Amino acid sequence: MNINDILTRLGITSNNSGTSTGTNKLQSTAATITSYSPVNGEVIATIQSTDAEGYEAVMQQAQQAFLYWRAVPAPKRGEIVRQFGDALRLHKADLGALVSYEMGKSLQEGMGEVQEMIDICDFAVGLSRQLYGLTMHSERPNHRMYEQWHPMGIVSIISAFNFPVAVWAWNTALALVCGNVCVWKPSSKTPLCAVACQNIVAKVLKANDLPEGISSLVTGNACGNLMNEDKRIPLISFTGSTRVGRLVSATVAGRFGRTILELGGNNAIIISDSADLEMSVIGAVFGAVGTAGQRCTSTRRLIIHESVYNDFTTKLTKAYAQIKIGDPLNENNHMGPLIDKDAVQAYLNSIEKVKQQGGRFLVEGGVLNGAGLESGCYVKPCIAEVENHYEIVQEETFAPILYVMKYSRIEEAIQMQNDVPQGLSSAIMTLNLREAEQFLSASGSDCGIANVNIGTSGAEIGGAFGGEKETGGGRESGSDAWKGYMRRQTNTINYSNTLPLAQGIKFDL
Ligand code: NAD
Repeated sequence: MNINDILTRLGITSNNSGTSTGTNKLQSTAATITSYSPVNGEVIATIQSTDAEGYEAVMQQAQQAFLYWRAVPAPKRGEIVRQFGDALRLHKADLGALVSYEMGKSLQEGMGEVQEMIDICDFAVGLSRQLYGLTMHSERPNHRMYEQWHPMGIVSIISAFNFPVAVWAWNTALALVCGNVCVWKPSSKTPLCAVACQNIVAKVLKANDLPEGISSLVTGNACGNLMNEDKRIPLISFTGSTRVGRLVSATVAGRFGRTILELGGNNAIIISDSADLEMSVIGAVFGAVGTAGQRCTSTRRLIIHESVYNDFTTKLTKAYAQIKIGDPLNENNHMGPLIDKDAVQAYLNSIEKVKQQGGRFLVEGGVLNGAGLESGCYVKPCIAEVENHYEIVQEETFAPILYVMKYSRIEEAIQMQNDVPQGLSSAIMTLNLREAEQFLSASGSDCGIANVNIGTSGAEIGGAFGGEKETGGGRESGSDAWKGYMRRQTNTINYSNTLPLAQGIKFDL
């Protein structure tokens, strides 16, 4: 793989100062962000970050663009998103490779992320003809009542490093067909993926003679703070940690803005005594080790029935012994690096805390060294026997540390699964219909996602995605998540020749 060729094909070119730029001409050169690959520790490129003046220019352009875009019929907006999906198809191989190289996930997962972008575009195209409102019967004669959905204005998307392209596309494709304009602030750990995406969408907009500002990019953490306070932004869709999400949520609520919050998870699989154990091993290993444990939906906890505990953990440790760790661009490897050395340190700290709090490791962790692992970001996935109430188990460590614990009754297992502050994804592996239905009932899982005989990790774009409690309560992607990007208006039309007042009130003049 030649990264420079890939960057060139994605429109990321080097200017005289050695700084790579996208097509966003409004960025000024206050400071730079350096992108390092966790694959080999190399600097990939440096990009300009947006200063306050650049931010202001982007916002003014977005405001202007909204005046135009909101008046474009929704199916025509869908046509632009269709072209965006086609452009992504053309760039899938390059963008997927860049995601893998800049973020460290496997090449297959990088391609998978771009495929999700394409899929959400297809979904949004159909949606652009289905932004339905209800009609209802008025209590007054010769009156008609209905509701309609209008765009909100500027939607800001603040995204996390671990899905450096798909989360933006989930938000942007929907927000655009709804008639909003978008301003994206990506993670400063994966800025090149963002510049590449911006180039692709900007080209489509330009080819259709559309105003700049329908979809813009700003970079650098300072812009996140500016957005939180900015009254011109009625909606911020924030994906990231609960810690930062709490701050964003409070600031935006303080100015009566809206947020869609997609925050941390602490996802568990219940392995019942009626489970297919072979399937369960695959689900657990993929869930815990995929993307090196850096998915919001990664499996963090296994709650295992006591009668199959020994058998299952033996199978699991055998499977762990076969995991190949190394260059994620090599398809023979199962797991690549963590995003950076800070993440490695957080992983090591958590391992220490597990030991201090009474945990016992069935598979030991540690940092890997050696040929091809020089970035210092490759770690061993590990498994610890713990109790659910340990402080460290209650937290999300964004790394491949898997906690195992025992249960005896299904009610107890569900209680343990729910007994964490987060509420994103959950699963039960069972062939027992009663147990499965109990898990899905109102007294079952309290998560936004609850699966049977599928692990916790990943989700299809057709469903509404998101979680409860400290995961933030937001919903994105499929089903009717689009309503989160629009404002609802109730309309009443009087076609009679009198003005009857509600509740029969008389107001004689
Ligand atoms: P993070 O919270 O460190 O950063 C997320 C984004 O917030 C980045 O773009 C960052 O620059 C920005 N940011 C930082 N300070 C800000 C501020 N004061 N105001 C506004 N924005 C600010 O998260 P991360 O390490 O990039 O990502 C990992 C976390 O994201 C994990 O907790 C993971 O579970 C979560 N995540 C959740 C979902 C979901 O759908 N629930 C999806 C992906 C990741």
